[in-house]
Amino acid sequence: MAQHQFQTEVSRLLHLIIHSLYSNREIFLRELVSNASDALDKLKYLTVADDAYKNLSFDPRIDISFHKDETAGASTLTIADNGIGMNEAELGDSLGTIARSGTRNFLDKLAEDAKKDSNLIGQFGVGFYSAFMVADKIEVISRKAGENAAWKWTSDGKEGYDIESAQRDTQGSTVILHLTEEGTEYANRWSIEDIIKRYSNHVAFPIYLTYDEKEYDDKGKEKGSKTKTDRINSGTAIWRRAKSELKDEDYNEFYKQLGHDTDEPLFYVHTKAEGTLEYSTLFYVPKKAPFDMYNADYKPGVKLYVKRVFITDDDKELMPTWLRFVRGIIDSEDLPLNVSREILQQNKVLLNIKNGSVKKLLGEFKALADNNKEKWETFVSQYNRPLKEGLYQDFSNREAILELVRFKSSTVEGWTSLAEYASRMKSDQKHIYYITGGDEKTLKASPLLEAYTAKGIEVLIMDDEIDDIIISSVGRYKKPTPTGDASGEDSALSQEWELKAVNRAGADEELGEKKDKAAEKEIKPVIEKIKKALGERVKDVKLSRRLHDSPSCIVADENDPTMQMQQMLKAMGQTEMPDIKPILEVNGDHPIVAGLRDLEDEERIADVAGVLLDQALLVEGIKVKDPADFVKRLNRLLSR
Ligand code: ADP
Repeated sequence: MAQHQFQTEVSRLLHLIIHSLYSNREIFLRELVSNASDALDKLKYLTVADDAYKNLSFDPRIDISFHKDETAGASTLTIADNGIGMNEAELGDSLGTIARSGTRNFLDKLAEDAKKDSNLIGQFGVGFYSAFMVADKIEVISRKAGENAAWKWTSDGKEGYDIESAQRDTQGSTVILHLTEEGTEYANRWSIEDIIKRYSNHVAFPIYLTYDEKEYDDKGKEKGSKTKTDRINSGTAIWRRAKSELKDEDYNEFYKQLGHDTDEPLFYVHTKAEGTLEYSTLFYVPKKAPFDMYNADYKPGVKLYVKRVFITDDDKELMPTWLRFVRGIIDSEDLPLNVSREILQQNKVLLNIKNGSVKKLLGEFKALADNNKEKWETFVSQYNRPLKEGLYQDFSNREAILELVRFKSSTVEGWTSLAEYASRMKSDQKHIYYITGGDEKTLKASPLLEAYTAKGIEVLIMDDEIDDIIISSVGRYKKPTPTGDASGEDSALSQEWELKAVNRAGADEELGEKKDKAAEKEIKPVIEKIKKALGERVKDVKLSRRLHDSPSCIVADENDPTMQMQQMLKAMGQTEMPDIKPILEVNGDHPIVAGLRDLEDEERIADVAGVLLDQALLVEGIKVKDPADFVKRLNRLLSR
C-alpha cells in the first residue's frame, strides 16, 4: 500500500492516457525530455536573474541511458537532468496531483465524448504520466537547486506513490523507468535516437545517450564492450535559423514538441526583425482551438526568450488576450537577461515586439483569407470568436480585425465578411443591418426580418452570445480604401456605414412610410387599446413598418439592452438588473390586429393584446414571464 494516494483526477487521467494514447506511446520520451528541458530553463533563468544562484557552476545537459535485461520486466530507461530539481513537497505536488484546474473540465469533456479523441489528449499535454504506458514502476530521484536533501518518489502508477529520503550529488532529477515487457523495445540505442531526433531535436540543451558498444578483434571476434556517450540532438533553436534552411517538417516537428500537440499546426509565421530592435518570433496557430481557452486559468502558449535563454511562458502580457490561442516563441536581443517579470509589463522593447507581432499575425490571417480557402475556413470555425473579442479589446487594430471576422447572413449561405456584405448592398441602402439574440434558426425566422426580406435587404445574422456586446461597441464599418488611393481627400471612395440592429427602434427608416395618414389615424385607437391593456408590461406600443406576415414583434428602445441581452446578463448572475421593457410593434394589416378595431369587450382585448406580446417574445426565444396566463388567454381565444 502506497503512503500517498493519487488525487482522483490523476487516477482517471492515467487510465485515459494508457488506453487512448497507446498506439502513439513513444511520445513518453518527448514528454520527459521536455520536462527536463523546462527544468534546465528554470535553473538557467535563476543563474542570471537571482544573485543566490550566480555562483552555481552550471553545465546544462540531459542524459539518457538504458539497461537491457533479458529477464521479463527487468529493463530500465533513465532520463537525468541537472536542472532546477524538486524538493519533497514539490515531488508530491507536481507528480501526485493535477495542479491545473482545467484538467478536471478536460477529463469530463473526454468522458462525455466517449470516443476518447487522442488529439485532444495530445493538445492538453499528457506530461509525466505518459511514461506509465511503458513502465510499471517509476522512480524519480530529485534534488532541488540550492538545497542539500534529495528525495525519491516511487510509484506503480496505480493508486499512489511513496516518497523517501535519497542521495544525489548535484541538483536535478533522475527519472528511472522500470519498463514493462512491451516497453523493453525502448531499451535500445536506435529507437531512443530515432525518437529524440523526431521530437526533441531542437531542444536547446544537449541530450546525451550512453550505451555499450561491442568491440571486436582483428579476426572479427567479439572481445568485449566499451561504454560510449554521444550527443544525439542538434540543439539549435529553430527560430534562430534562416528560413531558407528550414523545411515545413522542421517547423511542424518543433510545434508538436512546443505545443504538446500530436497534430500539425494550421500554419506558422516565422519572422526575424533587424533594425532598431532585433528579435525573432515563431508563431503557430493550432488546427484546433485549445479546449480550455475560455477558462479563467488558461495558460497562453507563447514563451519569451532573451538571447536564447528562456525567461517566462507565464506572462499574460506577451500577447493580447484575444490572441491567446497562438503558440510560439519570442526571442529578443535587446531585453536584459535579468529582466524581472514585473518590469516586463511596462517594458517598451517588449511592447514594440508585441505590437509588431500582432500586426504580423493580422497580416498573415488576412493572407490566409485571401489565398487559402480551406485553411481559412478552419481558422474561422475555430477562431472567429477570439477575433471578435479583439474588436473590443484592441482598439488600435479594430479596423484590421473587422475585416477578418465573419458573420452569417439572411441571404447567403455560410460565412460572410462586412466587405462582402457592403459589395452586395442595394445602391440606395443607407445602413448595414444585423439581428442578434438567439440561435441561427430563431433569428432567421424572426418576424423582424420580414420587411427587410421583402425589400431584398440583407441582414447579418449574429447568433453568437457575444455579438450583441461587441457589435454595438463597434458602431460603424468603413470600407478600407484600396492601397494607392490613400490620398486623404477621397471621401467619395471611402464609404462608411452605420451598423444597425433590426431589433431596435429606429432601424426601420428605410422600410418606407408607415401608412397614409388616414390609415394611420384609423389604427390609432387600436394601438391605444393595446397599450392600455398591456400597461406596465411594455415601454410603448407602435405601428410597425417592418412586419409583413406576422401580427407583432418586439424591439428595444434605441439605447436599451435587448431582451435577449437582459436574459443573458441575468443568466450570468446579474440578478439585480432592473427589467427594461420592450416596445411592442403591431402590424396594422394583420387580421388579428385589425380585428381589434370594433372590439369593445375589455377582457377579450386584454387576451388578444397579451397573446400578441407573448408570441412576439416567444418567437425571439425569450421566456414568457407567466406561461400559465399566456395559455389561459390563448385557450379562451381559441374556444370562442
Ligand atoms: P507539465 O510538464 O505539462 O506541467 P508533467 O506532468 O509533465 O506536466 O509535470 C508536472 C510537473 O512536475 C511539472 O510542471 C514540473 O513542475 C514537475 N517536473 C516534472 N519533471 C521534472 C523535472 N525533470 N525536473 C523538475 N521538475 C519536474
